[in-house]
Amino acid sequence: MATMGRSFKEKLLLLLTAILAVAVTPFAIMRFRHEQWAAALLDTSIIFVMLGLFLHVYFTRQTRGPGITLSLIFTVAALGSIFLLGIGQIYWAYPALTAAFFLLKTRYAALLSVVSLLAIEAMLWNSASPATIFTISLTLVTGVLFAYSFAVTANRQRSRLRHLATIDPLTGTGNRRAQNEKIDSVNALFRRAQVPGSILILDIDYFKKINDTHGHIVGDDVLVEVADLIRASTRPTETLYRYGGEEFIVIAEHTDLEGAAHLAEKLRGLIEQKVFVSDIRLTMSFGVAELQPSEGRQGWLIRADKALLRAKSEGRNRVVLDVPAEITLLSQVAAAGK
Ligand code: GH3
Ligand code: MG
Ligand code: MG
Repeated sequence: MATMGRSFKEKLLLLLTAILAVAVTPFAIMRFRHEQWAAALLDTSIIFVMLGLFLHVYFTRQTRGPGITLSLIFTVAALGSIFLLGIGQIYWAYPALTAAFFLLKTRYAALLSVVSLLAIEAMLWNSASPATIFTISLTLVTGVLFAYSFAVTANRQRSRLRHLATIDPLTGTGNRRAQNEKIDSVNALFRRAQVPGSILILDIDYFKKINDTHGHIVGDDVLVEVADLIRASTRPTETLYRYGGEEFIVIAEHTDLEGAAHLAEKLRGLIEQKVFVSDIRLTMSFGVAELQPSEGRQGWLIRADKALLRAKSEGRNRVVLDVPAEITLLSQVAAAGK
């Protein structure tokens, strides 16, 4: 398993569920001692639910389901205690509604807040003075608005940072970091479920000449157009990355060598047909490799790169496949048998 550090949300869930399980235990013991069976049962179930959530997050590293569950438990518990024990329990509403913005998607947290606020207003209606109702409403709404704007800002910054960290600024394709992440996820899926995946390394033929003739600015525009053309001609499961300079990588998920060869040939033809800025025509060479069992990121890339070098040395504007040794042997046996 990947040894990536746990996310903020994972840590938050582990901490909250652990604290709650520990904090409720003395109450459960007390209830059993006093033979308050209903309350004892309730406390015991809370402990088990919290332990269950803790173990679930710890082992699966999933946060969505546990986040929703925990947030709903908080809200129901806060509203329930106000309903059963009275307005003195209103203090629980503040952390419960704030927690929702940390545990849920912002819009669901906002929805839950509005519903909870309405429920609280309904419960307060006949049991508190107008001044108290006004104070509670104002402070709750203020708290929710702060949590909401904090969540919105954090989400925006997170997606901006993610963009900066993973996108090549010139071509808008994924950068090396995004490429590595994708390769690792294809690799993990292959190991878990034998789902095939293939890599295409693409290199523009004689790109130096384009720069020398038209200048680097036009060269940059050509790179952007190449990236746009490839992106427009590939599916969502065929993602494009800038490997370096005028080299790109397409990672084709759920695609074996044969499928990848078709894709490469299609792209090669499209590039060859296209007229770029300043009436430039160009061709590209392709190295293609399908992921093999027990192969790492490095080995897979090296095989695709070797195929690309062969495409270059065999005359460019062509697709060369890295065919694993056993398949080559099989086809030789088949050819010899003819
Ligand atoms: P080959 O067919 O063997 O690939 O020939 P080539 O000229 O394409 O290969 P080479 O690797 O010798 O040259 C690549 C050129 O790409 C050199 C470099 O100036 C240019 N290049 C790399 N990155 C950029 C870029 O971001 N913008 C521009 N305009 N040119 C770039
Ligand atoms: Mg080149
Ligand atoms: Mg190159």
